[in-house]
Amino acid sequence: MEILYSEVFKGHKPLRYHPENPKRLEFAIEGLKERDLWINVEEPPRAEINDILKVHSNEYVKKIQGLSESGFSFIDLDTYVSLHTWEAALTAFGASMQVAKLALKKKDVYLALIRPPGHHAGKKGRALGAPTLGFCIFNNAAGAALTLKEKAGKVVIIDFDVHHGNGTQDIFWDDGDVVHIDLHESGIYPGSGDIYEIGGRGAEGSKINLPMPHYSKDDDYVFVWQEIVLPILEDIGPRAIVVSAGFDAFKGDGLATMELSERF
Ligand SMILES: [Zn+2]
Repeated sequence: MEILYSEVFKGHKPLRYHPENPKRLEFAIEGLKERDLWINVEEPPRAEINDILKVHSNEYVKKIQGLSESGFSFIDLDTYVSLHTWEAALTAFGASMQVAKLALKKKDVYLALIRPPGHHAGKKGRALGAPTLGFCIFNNAAGAALTLKEKAGKVVIIDFDVHHGNGTQDIFWDDGDVVHIDLHESGIYPGSGDIYEIGGRGAEGSKINLPMPHYSKDDDYVFVWQEIVLPILEDIGPRAIVVSAGFDAFKGDGLATMELSERF
């Protein structure tokens, strides 16, 4: 496994306690070190504004840039922007594009260990009626998916964060070449991700929502994985897969009720 990580990701930070803070990276790094996986670590390249504009509107990107330059503020009730958010967000997006390129070159697992997160960020910011941006700035998974699409055609995104990836769905709604499979807890933030949301006209079937009941456990996820996710992957046979890997379905995480363990 190769890891793309930069200290600049810690520059996106709250003034006082907030669940999305730099400590998340420190905990992840600690866990990787304990498992002897903190070996191939590289500094990612920074994305250009033009890369971000392939995913987000100019108005939204300029808004984030302006807010970041003027210091700290909350963009909505959940989501903050700080002085170094702009640099962190561009680098997070660059890391995501880079892992996609690396995966096409050599078969392996590439981890973009990044902040700020992205899957709730849609084309113009808040997506599909969500009340907030849910801590997200730029949609990093979308950056990886577009990079893969340019080079390899059909793309699969698997999003197993406990919340629905509404931003990702918004961005690729009409794009039948981007298959987005989303496992999430039913009935919580951001409110979207119903099984009937299947993609826009001409892209029907490319969006596969798998809302899971509250308190789902490992065996529930394994069942869905074996019965639905794996057959789809076998059918499509993608060259690489983007995994939008939020770990908040882990038991005791506190943001949701799922009870996944490290057992599998
Ligand atoms: Zn989440």
